Amino acid sequence: MVITPAQAADPILLRLCALQHAGYAESDEASVRLVRRSIDARSRLPRVRIVADVIEGHEPPSSQRILDSMPMADPQRRVVIVGAGPAGYFAALELLLHGITPVVLDRGKDVRARRRDLRAIQQDGVVNPDSNYCFGEGGAGTYSDGKLYTRSHKRGSIETVLQLLVEHGATADILVDAHPHIGSNKLWQVVQNIRDTIIRHGGEVHFETHVTDFVMSPQGAGQVMRGVRTSDGTEILGDAVILATGHSARDVFALCARRRIQIEAKPFALGVRIEHPQALIDEIRYHQSPRDPNLPASSYSLVCQADGRGVFSFCMCPGGLIVPAATAPGEIVVNGMSMSRRDSPFANSGTVVAVEPDDWKRCGYDGVFGALEFQAHTERAAFESNDNGSQQAPAQRLVDYLEHRVSTSIPKTSYIPGHVSVDMADILPPSIDERLRMGIREFGNTMRGYLTNEAVMVGVESRTSSPVRIPRDRVTYQHTSVERLYPCGEGAGYAGGIVSAALDGQNVAKAIALTYAGS
Ligand SMILES: Cc1cc2nc3c(=O)[nH]c(=O)nc-3n(C[C@H](O)[C@H](O)[C@H](O)COP(=O)(O)OP(=O)(O)OC[C@H]3O[C@@H](n4cnc5c(N)ncnc54)[C@H](O)[C@@H]3O)c2cc1C
Repeated sequence: MVITPAQAADPILLRLCALQHAGYAESDEASVRLVRRSIDARSRLPRVRIVADVIEGHEPPSSQRILDSMPMADPQRRVVIVGAGPAGYFAALELLLHGITPVVLDRGKDVRARRRDLRAIQQDGVVNPDSNYCFGEGGAGTYSDGKLYTRSHKRGSIETVLQLLVEHGATADILVDAHPHIGSNKLWQVVQNIRDTIIRHGGEVHFETHVTDFVMSPQGAGQVMRGVRTSDGTEILGDAVILATGHSARDVFALCARRRIQIEAKPFALGVRIEHPQALIDEIRYHQSPRDPNLPASSYSLVCQADGRGVFSFCMCPGGLIVPAATAPGEIVVNGMSMSRRDSPFANSGTVVAVEPDDWKRCGYDGVFGALEFQAHTERAAFESNDNGSQQAPAQRLVDYLEHRVSTSIPKTSYIPGHVSVDMADILPPSIDERLRMGIREFGNTMRGYLTNEAVMVGVESRTSSPVRIPRDRVTYQHTSVERLYPCGEGAGYAGGIVSAALDGQNVAKAIALTYAGS
């Protein structure tokens, strides 16, 4: 059924609409269960599309919780997981469902202690290379937007991931919303609850434990992974090692190369964040300003081809903030996040160009680190745009960018460290800059009002996905040449986002459980 935002927001009105729609009277004994909710903003007045089950009599008891079937882990069967991001934590939960003990190691701090380091980046421009927007408990997903949609439909059960999030404290709305979202202010608690589950069932979680080497032994013509060594020299051994270290763990890629573990360069995407006033996006999308208070902050999704390459908006954060997501001093990287209410006055979105080998080769980078070095080069150029070593990011008004004009002023944005007014063409590699320009012009044609000097681009959005792949077997999920090593999640090149990383973690853990069953 299609109803007004006010009807959808009020549980009593929503129930009435569903009963009427299904041919019941208000007085009938029937319960309504929401199945799907989405915003339809195509007509002049936005509406809410609802799919609901109307059940005669009382609602049947809800199905069993996944956690109710989780046994205590067998201490004899131990798997080392490097990385406490969505891939690592969901691998741990899945191993526990099979009675296997996960030993999770993360170089960063627990989810609460991490906040101090985020404040240091925001306010003082100090980047802690082990604790930042990408590293620490919950991984890059914790202080993010917490959008939970994925384009991946074939890799596993998205419903199970969402259900587990709900069982750890996320709102049940994520089970029905077409574009589910948790928000940074709620995600940390969910992450902490997942850690409690792991420990309660016999698993281990160790923070500030930086893995700097692998423990391997030769087997036949190849190698077999026995465990890992941490920065203080401690060896942690297990029956298998899941490597879920995310797209920013450059030292892990270097470690793989040093230990002759095969890795390869991988295409990614590069560009900027573009921020508009949220009220302007609402006006464009909902045809109203201010927007109906029953409607969420509106978003957009734009894509086009420019000179044979995809240009697209990415990871939109309506009512959100642009954040400094560097993982080492000497670089500037931006990303986006939002709170559950999405109530900031800004709407930002990554706007990026697909990067291909041609791009990095033309800039003189080649080999397995070609894509990574191209990425790092752009991040250093962004850092060097300010002369005070801070996290002040290069910025330019959108129309000024198209007209090759350095902006005389940058309006207030959500990016707390501040900006330096530049010509973004001096920061971005030419092949990216040219296509980004074409793409933005095209977006302006598609979405009337998008192309305005009220909008600001802030650079650089470079950590869209991993620039390196760690190859693995499609069936066993093991590394192609190192037995018992399981590359996993976004860093290894098998995920792009919270849900797909979680799904990959589950799939890897299932493959390990199968190996145990067969041994
Ligand atoms: C600010 C921001 C906002 C985002 N918003 C969204 C969003 O709204 N929706 C969405 O789907 N995606 C979002 N993303 C992307 C998403 O967070 C990632 O795709 C996802 O977290 C990848 O999961 P992962 O487990 O593979 O790796 P990660 O989350 O990157 O986790 C890797 C973990 O490994 C640890 N680690 C690294 N090296 C070592 C080592 N040597 N030893 C020990 N530990 C190590 C790190 O500390 C980290 O905790 C966002 C990312 C950022 C940075």
